[in-house]
Amino acid sequence: MINLKNIIMTAAMTCAVATSTAQTKVIAHRGFWDCEGSAQNSITALVKAAEAGVYGSEFDVLITSDGVPVVNHDDDINGVIIEQSPYSSISSFTLSNGEILPTLQSYLEEGKKYPSTQLILEIKPHKSTENENRAVETIVNMVKSMGIENQVEYISFSMNICRQLVKKSPDSQIAYLMSDMSPVDVGKLGMTGIDYHYKAFDKYPEWISEAQNEGMTVNVWTVNNLDVMKKLIDLKADYITTDKPLEALELVKK
Ligand code: MG
Repeated sequence: MINLKNIIMTAAMTCAVATSTAQTKVIAHRGFWDCEGSAQNSITALVKAAEAGVYGSEFDVLITSDGVPVVNHDDDINGVIIEQSPYSSISSFTLSNGEILPTLQSYLEEGKKYPSTQLILEIKPHKSTENENRAVETIVNMVKSMGIENQVEYISFSMNICRQLVKKSPDSQIAYLMSDMSPVDVGKLGMTGIDYHYKAFDKYPEWISEAQNEGMTVNVWTVNNLDVMKKLIDLKADYITTDKPLEALELVKK
């Protein structure tokens, strides 16, 4: 006769083991850029991150005045404010490795060739709510039309952008970056994770387990110090976002 109690206990133990051995995963901050021929937020950095075998490659996105999302960290490029300028005014600009400023479309097309690398898409805060909302709308539609919803995970410092993402792409992974709210409060707004500065966890180390108890993920930025990485691995953070992906991968393996 099948002993139901034993089955339940075995299942519970398997779950417990699975949780406690979950390994911290590595995300390359702005791709793997600190190497020959690469540059922050370049398509080369995405390819190098994929080749290095990280869990994910992070990059920053803003939208032009005429609706073209581009991959860039600052709100301007060569002094031209991206959200207030048409794409034609920045389309010929190059990155420090000589690559042309990538559009999100070209970036995602390349990323799609590496399906085992998650694309950690940060939508930057824009100067107006209207621009943030049209950025979310355009980006979510692009990701859906390319059929890569499961490969893309969203992050943002803007609470407005996070809330729009919850509305427009409710099945996606969405994490808030500002490091100023408890995970329980972030979860109540429909986000699936927190992605906080490592110093937030000096002050609130319990936020890691609190988030995970809510079924949320914990990502930590930008961790370049090996001692801090070790501490976060011990605290069982789900992800570490770093400019030193090779060193982080080595540490995680140990
Ligand atoms: Mg970023």
